[in-house]
Amino acid sequence: MMHVYGPHIFHTDDETVWNYVNKFATFMPFQNRVKSTTQNAVYSLPINLLTINQFFGKTMRPDEAREFISAQADLSIEDPQSFEEQALRFVGRPLYEAFFKGYTEKQWGCSPTELPASILKRLPVRFNYDDNYFFHRFQGMPRDGYTAMVEAILDHPNIKVELQTTYDPSMSEDADHVFWSGPLDGYYDYKLGRLGYRTLDFERFDYEGDYQGCAVMNYGDREVPYTRITEHKHFSPWESHEGSVCYREFSRLAEPGDTPYYPIRLVEEKALLDEYQALAAAETKVTFVGRLGTYRYLDMDVTIGEALQTAATFMAKTV
Ligand code: UDP
Repeated sequence: MMHVYGPHIFHTDDETVWNYVNKFATFMPFQNRVKSTTQNAVYSLPINLLTINQFFGKTMRPDEAREFISAQADLSIEDPQSFEEQALRFVGRPLYEAFFKGYTEKQWGCSPTELPASILKRLPVRFNYDDNYFFHRFQGMPRDGYTAMVEAILDHPNIKVELQTTYDPSMSEDADHVFWSGPLDGYYDYKLGRLGYRTLDFERFDYEGDYQGCAVMNYGDREVPYTRITEHKHFSPWESHEGSVCYREFSRLAEPGDTPYYPIRLVEEKALLDEYQALAAAETKVTFVGRLGTYRYLDMDVTIGEALQTAATFMAKTV
């Protein structure tokens, strides 16, 4: 199983969503335990007690570590607005510079002072040895991959799938309603301008044996040009493989024709987004869904939860 669009680990606290995906796939237990190579050492992520003790060469217990980190944190930042302020406020400068600054500059192509604090809020900081990247009740990996899961979702007599077909507005003439999960600006043929996205390039390399010993290795140093390496066989630990396929992941600004991955949402995008959202709000026959359709950094579970909700609301109105 290869994660051709980068690592996707299914995790959620929403039981409805978990039950829904389990109807279409067999989920195998999987916990994401990410590592980070930075400043000539390998550490455990998200930042936890092991990371803190190793990084500072200490043997602190939870309360001691809390106090130690508080002493480094910039408590004068009361209400962090930017990514950098959020990091300085909660982990202090040394950890910020080792784990977040370089990675984030590579991932987003701008200074963390320009990014919203919400991006960092995706990651926890733990004062215990829990190194599970996600803090959700339900986690797992579809045994046969996401493609099989999506195929099973679409396998219904009322669903017709047409791939390799460019959308043309005339196609919706016969439709009662359109649910648009492509880029919001793309629906309007980019007439007001393009919303900014980051795209990813994956540089594949093969290896005999175990290349890095884990599924995801992040690289915090700015000088390393990629953000992370994924070794795909570790996403399906219930299988065993001699050979190995790895991807080096590079992030860059999406150009027309590239696959959009991450909505950037800086100040200028927000102004343009407002304009597109005003157009979208006036639509009566079109509903915009998903990461691209709503231009938000959504995880899979939130996307699915919102889609189920959208469908329920729509059905309640029409039936
Ligand atoms: N991040 C970081 N260092 C890391 C991992 C993440 O600075 O080692 C920051 C980075 O800005 C990233 C954000 O935290 O965009 C969210 O990380 P997450 O792992 O959720 O990103 P995804 O897997 O969605 O690409």
